[in-house]
Order: sequence, then structure tokens, then C-alpha cells
Amino acid sequence: MKSHVQVAVIGGGVVGCSVLYHLTKAGWHDVVLLERDELTSGSTWHAAGGMHTINGDPNVAKLQAYTINLYKEIEQISGQSCGVHITAGIMLAATKERFEFLKMMRSRGRYLGLDMEMISVDEAARRFPLMDKKHFIGALYNTLEGHVDPSGVTHAYAKAARVQGAEVYRFTRVKDLKQRPDGTWDVITDKGNLHAEHVVNAGGLWARESGRMVGLELPLLAMEHQYIISDDIPEVAASPTEMLHVIDFDGEIYMRQEGKGMLMGTYERAGVPWSERETPWNFGHELLPNDLERIAPSLEVGFEHFPKIGQAGIKRVVNGPFTFAPDGNPLVGPIRGLKNYWVACAVMAGFSQGGGVGLSLSNWMVHGDPGADIWGMDVSRYGDWATMAYTNAKVRENYSRRFRVRFPNEELAAARPLRTTPIYDRLQAQNAVFGAAYGLEHALWFAPSKEQANEEVTFYRSNAHDIVAQECKAVREGVGLMEISTYAKYEVTGPDAETWLSRVLANRMPQQGRIALTPMLNHEGKLIGDFTVAKLAADRFFIIGSGIAENYHMRWWERHMPERGVAIRAFGAELVGLSVAGPKSRTLLQKLVKDDLSTASFPFLSFRKMEIGLVPALAGRISFTGDLGYEIWVKPEYQRTLYDALLEAGKEFAIRHFGARALQSLRLEKGFGTWAREYRPIYGPYEAGLDRFIDLRKNDFIGREAAAKEKQTGGTRRLVTFAVDATDADTIGDEPVWHDGKVVGWITSGGYAHYSKTSVAMGYIPAGINGSGKFEVEILGERRPARLCAKPVFDPDGTRMRA
Ligand SMILES: Cc1cc2nc3c(=O)[nH]c(=O)nc-3n(C[C@H](O)[C@H](O)[C@H](O)COP(=O)(O)OP(=O)(O)OC[C@H]3O[C@@H](n4cnc5c(N)ncnc54)[C@H](O)[C@@H]3O)c2cc1C
Repeated sequence: MKSHVQVAVIGGGVVGCSVLYHLTKAGWHDVVLLERDELTSGSTWHAAGGMHTINGDPNVAKLQAYTINLYKEIEQISGQSCGVHITAGIMLAATKERFEFLKMMRSRGRYLGLDMEMISVDEAARRFPLMDKKHFIGALYNTLEGHVDPSGVTHAYAKAARVQGAEVYRFTRVKDLKQRPDGTWDVITDKGNLHAEHVVNAGGLWARESGRMVGLELPLLAMEHQYIISDDIPEVAASPTEMLHVIDFDGEIYMRQEGKGMLMGTYERAGVPWSERETPWNFGHELLPNDLERIAPSLEVGFEHFPKIGQAGIKRVVNGPFTFAPDGNPLVGPIRGLKNYWVACAVMAGFSQGGGVGLSLSNWMVHGDPGADIWGMDVSRYGDWATMAYTNAKVRENYSRRFRVRFPNEELAAARPLRTTPIYDRLQAQNAVFGAAYGLEHALWFAPSKEQANEEVTFYRSNAHDIVAQECKAVREGVGLMEISTYAKYEVTGPDAETWLSRVLANRMPQQGRIALTPMLNHEGKLIGDFTVAKLAADRFFIIGSGIAENYHMRWWERHMPERGVAIRAFGAELVGLSVAGPKSRTLLQKLVKDDLSTASFPFLSFRKMEIGLVPALAGRISFTGDLGYEIWVKPEYQRTLYDALLEAGKEFAIRHFGARALQSLRLEKGFGTWAREYRPIYGPYEAGLDRFIDLRKNDFIGREAAAKEKQTGGTRRLVTFAVDATDADTIGDEPVWHDGKVVGWITSGGYAHYSKTSVAMGYIPAGINGSGKFEVEILGERRPARLCAKPVFDPDGTRMRA
């Protein structure tokens, strides 16, 4: 065993081996993999090996397509067969909702360049004769599906890595990890120690244990999973071509050919976690006892939908554990506060995702950036609120819903409420319908009565539609009150605070008492954040950003922080907020404060400490609604008093609560983009139309050079707003944009702009396309005419917010 290496990868499952291979491919050859047993000894060896490109996050879907296309490459380098069978696949729908969901998938696939088509039930039965047509109404056909040999794939990665300089140490268990002062690691194994610059935790079933070695509790959990292999089926044996990969969503089962029979697996509703607290080290190449009772309801449906399989009998049952994160997507990337420690775990579909995970992580380690938009897999999407109990509840929920339709307006119930603010019960009393973001409850809209405080889940406009319209109207014509505690809040202090902020953010920092809006760029000049920065004193700044990205942004900032002269703190829920917005918001607030709120003394983009009623607060004249408005920040102990005071003072103006749904509608008609939708690390600031917030003439800042180049070229795409000729459903994001009959771009977010009475969609199109030609946007598989809007549909000159 080597005594010093650049990287030690822990875990010889499909994921660890993929990371090892990709590190060598990216140019790091002094890399080793440590496996406590034989390769594949975790969840990998008993996997069904199925693979497909479908994922709720299109960026993850793209990486799944990369994985499937990678197998040829590793076979060539290693000489090891991966046992690839690209059979193509069908996803069957038995209900209208499912059929619409599949149409949405097909739409997304279109802009990703994935080859999918909707087919009739007769066509599906022609291609997959084992099905009984009467249970289905149609299907999605996808050419890029099939299955692989799990062991073949894992060994092919490992061999290909070895060919390129890596070493693999089997039967070597990592027992502990100790960090040296310089951030490198002593890797303590049962075969001796190793000094590694970087450590990758690809421990699969034992990823939690390798996390605990460094004080980390990773939010993942293994679930038991069962599949059966049928006895030989004459129709399968006689078929000249291999059977398709099949997902029957309504039966909650998946299938593929295995020998002359079929493999049928299910994600049952009453899923059972395995080793909830810790994974035994002596678990190896073994299976869990079968529990056919548990999956009997799904099997019954399966045998009814596919009678030939039911008639064949069961040859073998496999029950094995594999891990999931709370949302079912992998946990990838560096850990905030832990230098040179990386994770690649909770990969629930190793044969669809393992390649993409290895590619992104190795890019990140070698080049400092994952090289793709992997927000959906980034480990930083969870904070310390993702406790073991939260993870347990969410993983069970996710498992039970694996093949269920997720509606765009659906909020999942497990592990809620977890984080609440002091006015939670006050909002409940106002019949708030809540959602959760980053574990924090926040109001989506307010129903007229308790009985109506329930949103039907649908792809169409829901029962909340008309009520949200009223909330929007109240803001635009009077005054609205909204809780804004979900935003992330930070304080940057110290003598070098301004110099540092000016280095990490792209805009000039504001004068004292003022606010600046600023994007944050990575070294490639791409958008990694979008902030409101207020200067409170020469050495004190207050920053507001996207709540779901708090950990993501803190990780970046801490890594770019000098040793002294500046400190940063994320407030989390230690600071909570309320916003009043609308033409009457100033008069309302003025009733409660001594400061002069007139535009002359507290103009748009002002920020200062203020007493509001009894409460000490920080207040800014800014609002994401695009209207006159104020954002007010207080310590939690004051929030109820502030809330009561604002409501009381607002009575005479008929103040109305509004929630996140109304805010979405209001910001869309103003053409305001938002993090994780319009602003993501695949877009540049000029492409995103943020030109006026980039100051290339100030000091040097991260991403400046790349941004300057983008300014010159104009970038390859541009963010635009469409008014869509929608009927009873609006865009939600990820729909393709058509121009003169060709797919040219995609929607990032959309919805109904109630006040403007327009269905609005924001999205990216190629920079070269001007306003001419015919645009269409796909909604639920239907191409709807769309008009390019040169200016926001509401208040294009921004006079309202500056009023
Ligand atoms: C029944 C079943 C069916 C499945 N079907 C499919 C399917 O059809 N398609 C699909 O894509 N996926 C499927 N999966 C999921 C798939 O198996 C996983 O996505 C994949 O195996 C995850 O691989 P991994 O490398 O992350 O983890 P693992 O396979 O668990 O590998 C982790 C490895 O790390 C080693 N290790 C851990 N800690 C240490 C340490 N401290 N020191 C040294 N070594 C260590 C372990 O020994 C193990 O070999 C299925 C899983 C099951 C159980």
C-alpha cells in the first residue's frame, strides 16, 4: 500500500469506482480506492442493473444520459464487459394524470435532446406483448433504457482506472480519519495508514459511518428493496428481440428481461428502512430475508397487468438494501467547513447516475467546479435541520412515492412541521396553506376558511387560483403583508469586509445606508448567487439571498475567506422577516415609525435600523413584488409584536396577507429572475440580463475576466419573458421553447400573472434569435403560441417600486 496519495476514495461500489476512474480521466493519477471487502460488496452486487434517463431534475437527467453512454468507453479502456443491453423502454400510464406527467417528461426530454415519443396503448402492446392493454391508456417510449451487469460495470470502472494509474486495495477497511492542520488526512485502515490530500466518502451503505469519522451526520438511509425473477416465459424465450425495460407507474413496478423470464421489482408503499441508525460492518455479500407479503399488493397488480408473468411462477426473490437521501437524489460535493473531504453517496440509481456523479465530483476536485449544473445533487442542499428522524421520515415517503405522480403544486407532508417561526400559529389562524423550504414552513396562500385551506394537486390551475388573484390585487392596489423569513440572511463584519465583498460579488458595494443588488460569479464567470447587500456601517454589511442556498453560499464564502480582517455569519432563523408591499405600504409603515419614510429621506434601495412600533428592526425599502414595499428584519422574539402592529395599523387600508404563490405571480409579471430557476451556474450574467448589476470597472472580482469576455460576445443564450396563450394550465419550468417549428430553448419558470391577466413564462433562447418568427411554448405536451415580451408585462419602467 502507498503511504502518501493525492486522493483516497473510500468504497468500491459502482460509485466509488466511477469516482476513481473519473479522477484518472481528469488527470489525477496518484489516486487509490479502499474497499473493506471485495468490490461491489455493498448494495451494488445485488442491483437489478436497470438504467434510464428519467429524473425530475433535467440536469440530473442529462448526467444519467451521460452515464448510459459512458459504458462503451470504459469497456474499451478496461477490456471488461459491462453487459450492456440497450433494449429501449416504455413507461405505461393507466390514468389521465400519469399520461400528462409522461407528456411533461417527453417535453423535457425534447430540450435535453433525449429521444422519447408518446405511443398509443396498442403500439405499446405491440412492442411489449406481455402487457394486458385494458389497464393502460398510453405510454412514453424512450430509446435510451436498458440494463447492465452491475458487477461488470463496477469492475470495468476499476480496471479502467487502474489502466490510468490508480490503485485499488481490497479487503482494506478505513477505520478512522484524522485531519492534519494543513487539511490533509491520515487515513487509518486495518492494513496500515495512508496520508491523503483528499478523501472521498463513497461508502454507500456505510457512508454514514465514514461521515461520522469526521463528525458528520449525512442525511441518508437504506431501504429494503425486493425484486422477483420469474420462471421462464414461453413468449420471452421465443421473442427474437430482448424485452423492453418497462415501468408500470400505476402498478408501481419495473421490469426487464432476465434470462428467459422477467425481473419484476417494486417500490411498495409500506417500505421498510434497513439499519436505521448504523450499518453493521460484518454485512457483506448477503441478502435480507424475503418478505413477499409486503410486496404482495404490488405483485398482484403486476400479475394482473402482465398476466404471463403471473402465470410463470417465481424462480427467485432478492431483497437487498440501498441508500436514499430525503429527496431521492444523490449527495455529492465538498462539505462546508471540512477541507478536502468530499462525498459521493446516497446514489439510489447507481447504474443510471454513477457516471454523472463520478464526472461531476472529479471535475469539482480537479478543476474546482463540477462542470455541470448539479444543484439537484449538491450535498449542500441540506442543512443541520436534516436530522436522522427527518431523513427517516422523508426517505420512507420518497420510497413509497417513487412511481407516484408529483404535481407541480404538491407539498409533501412527511417530517412537517420541522422549522417554524414565531408567527406560525398566527398564520395558521389566518388559514394559511403552508409549504416547506429548507425545512422551514412558509405560507403559500391564505384560504377564506379553515375548511378551504387545502390545495388540490393538479397540473392545471388549482382551487388557489382565484384566491391568489385576490392577494395579488391587494398588493397592487392597496397593501399586502407577507412573511419573508425563508430568505437567507448574513452579516459580514470586520475592517476588510468591504474589500472582501467587493472581491466575491460582482457589483460595486453600496454606500452606507443603501442597498446594492449583486450577482455572485464563479471563476468561470457563471452565476452562483444573487444577493441584496446593505451597508450598515463602514465595517458591517447585511446580505439577503436565497434561503435554500444558505449552506451552498456559506461553503463558497468560507472557502474564499481570508484568515483575518473579515467574518461572516448566517443568521438562519435567528433573524426573521416580514414585508409590507403595495401603494399603501408607506402610509401604513409611517404610522408606526418616527423616521421620515418619504422618498426624499428614505428612497428606493435605502436600508437602516428603525424602531417600528415597540420593535427594534432593520428595514429596507425594497420588495420582490416590484411595487413600493419594505422588508423588515427582527429577532424572533419581536416577530409576533411586529406582526400584530403591522396588521393593526393596516386595518384602515384593508391589509391582506399574501403568500409565496402571489409573490411568484407578482415577480413574474415584473420579469424578476430567481436563484435556482433563472440564475444557475450554467448561465452567465449577461445572458441572464443582469448587465446593470455587473461592474467591470471596479476592483478585480471572482469571475470578472470571464464576465468581461461574455460581455463582448454577448453569451450564447439570453433570458427572455413570454406571454403565453395558455388556457387552463400554465408553464411551471423545464418546458421546451419552439421557434419556427424547432426546439430552441427552455422555460425556467412560469405561471399566471394575475394582475396583468397574462400567462407568463421566463426562459432561455439562443442569443442569435431576435423577436421575429413564431414562438411556441409547450404546456402538458401541447404547443401554445407565445409572444416575446421586450419589457416586463407590469410597470416596465419600474416607477411603482421607486414611487
Ligand atoms: C435489490 C436492489 C435492486 C437495485 N436495482 C437497481 C437498478 O435496477 N438500477 C440501479 O441503477 N440501481 C439499482 N439499485 C441501487 C444500486 O445498487 C445503488 O445505486 C448502488 O449500488 C450504489 O452504489 P454505491 O457505490 O454508492 O454503494 P455500495 O454498493 O454500498 O458501495 C459502497 C462500498 O463501500 C465499501 N465501504 C464502505 N465503507 C467503507 C470503509 N470504511 N472502508 C472500506 N470500504 C468501505 C463497502 O464495502 C461497499 O463495497 C438496486 C439496489 C438493490 C438493493
